[in-house]
Amino acid sequence: MNLKETIRSIPDWPIEGVVFRDLTTLMQNPKSFAYACDLLYDRYKDKGIDKIVGIDARGFVFGGVVAYKLGIGFVPVRKKGKLPGSTIQETYALEYGTDTLEIHEDAISPGEKVVIVDDLIATGGTVGAAVKLVKNLGADLLECAFVVELPDLKGRDQIDGCPVFAMVEFE
Ligand code: IMP
Repeated sequence: MNLKETIRSIPDWPIEGVVFRDLTTLMQNPKSFAYACDLLYDRYKDKGIDKIVGIDARGFVFGGVVAYKLGIGFVPVRKKGKLPGSTIQETYALEYGTDTLEIHEDAISPGEKVVIVDDLIATGGTVGAAVKLVKNLGADLLECAFVVELPDLKGRDQIDGCPVFAMVEFE
């Protein structure tokens, strides 16, 4: 299965000069979607993971399937203002301005083993905030997993010390 071929690239979106890697084409292809989810399931099935943490919004798609297949719980990390219960927050820098992610403060118990899942790591700002959130709740973070990594943007440097798994790279 060539996963990379199933990802559509859209030039100059959302702004000029950026090539957006559109994973909706991977997700709408049943073979590539199942392949990506199964890869994560096989990787974590014997690792004693307690919960999958998915990042808003495409991390919910892949993370939800993997949690279901592993028979464990799913925890969403959401953009600010979407979670109804008591939350903790983490603000991170964007190219222009900042953004804030939240997690329910009772979503993970100290010592629980978790994996963070998102569709793509670019600069690493988003997953960097998610790592801080789960660590603040006392989670034992095994790894951060992505379908796509853009290695030129050095996102891994934002989550120093935490292993990263990615299935596909784009320059
Ligand atoms: P980062 O914070 O710069 O690492 O950006 C990663 C976040 O932005 C992830 O939640 C991605 O879903 C989203 N993102 C950034 N660039 C792309 C892209 O080219 N395709 C799909 N999602 C992207």
